[in-house]
Amino acid sequence: MAPILEIRNLYKNYGATEILKDINIAIEPGDFLVLVGPSGCGKSTLLNCIAGLEPISGGTVTIDGRDMTNVSPKDRDIAMVFQSYALYPTMSVARNITFGMKVRGVDAATQAAKLKHVASLLQIEQLLDRRPGQLSGGQRQRVAMGRALVRDPKLFLFDEPLSNLDAKLRVEMRTEIKKLHQTLGATMVYVTHDQIEAMTLATQIVVMKGGVIQQMGSPAEIYNRPANLFVADFMGSPAMNLIPVRTRRNGEGTLIEISRADGEPIVLRDRKAPDLPSEVILGLRPEDIAEAGFRAGEDVQEATCLVDMVEPAGADTYVVSQLGGRQVTARLHAETRARAGAPLALAFDMSKVSYFAPDSGKRLN
Ligand code: ADP
Repeated sequence: MAPILEIRNLYKNYGATEILKDINIAIEPGDFLVLVGPSGCGKSTLLNCIAGLEPISGGTVTIDGRDMTNVSPKDRDIAMVFQSYALYPTMSVARNITFGMKVRGVDAATQAAKLKHVASLLQIEQLLDRRPGQLSGGQRQRVAMGRALVRDPKLFLFDEPLSNLDAKLRVEMRTEIKKLHQTLGATMVYVTHDQIEAMTLATQIVVMKGGVIQQMGSPAEIYNRPANLFVADFMGSPAMNLIPVRTRRNGEGTLIEISRADGEPIVLRDRKAPDLPSEVILGLRPEDIAEAGFRAGEDVQEATCLVDMVEPAGADTYVVSQLGGRQVTARLHAETRARAGAPLALAFDMSKVSYFAPDSGKRLN
């Protein structure tokens, strides 16, 4: 399939400062692309470059096969939804939604039909006569989305649309947006600093840092095979354990030696590790460390560790131990008998490990 949005070698400078560096992205119709990264990494700037609200300093942006370099935002066949909603305070909800169509000269019957359709899709039929000031945050966000939906554009662009909502409403609206994407089959580009939002919404995720793409892939690829230490640490909560270890090859694979402050190092065997340097960073997610006896398999290796801290979290209990000079978190079942200050046998699933180079941070396996 031809890409609906293609960004090639895009650069963006403000004065002498490079904000975006050699950005390359291609997505297909129906994709939900999430741009995620810490504050200041350039997500909004990239979205604004796609929208044409910011001129680019190099490279190209192509929407549905057409080079957008000299095309103004209103002619790009896009619709944007902002964090601030940007509703007209003096207009009713209905007029806020239809105003753009009116400006574009859409006839009254079509305006009415689209308004009806979108109001029912977003379940705001009963709010059409109100002013934005008479709506809750979540309702305003629906109106802002309604205004985008009636355009039926080639691309929807969302800039942190949920960040003004409280935690519970965020989760509800997240589900709504996902449903909307599935119902419409529309193509969406969505900016957020929230890695959980990225994981739950995206078909494709772009992780950014300092204006550079760190990795692009499906949520599963990003989660299971992070390309470097930054992505490994940024995506996932609690974060992936990243432990400095020593490696040694022997007849049956590779031995991974992890130091401990309070005794002999623990040694885990990885049958399938590639050739590794003698010092690497081992990455293992909390859910891939279980209490011994609760995880089985050829690649599960057990070792006894001293428990530092026990953190009940409802459905799970997190247990923290000092390994390799780091606080290492294991996600255990809620009924665990783990106690702070007592030893506990843990099971490490070595089929799930990532290895990273300590200097470059790049993935090695
Ligand atoms: P994000 O959306 O990831 O939080 P932004 O795209 O808003 O990041 O900003 C990226 C970087 O560009 C930041 O360092 C910010 O300070 C800088 N920046 C944004 N807008 C301007 C501007 N108009 N002039 C100069 N620097 C800017």
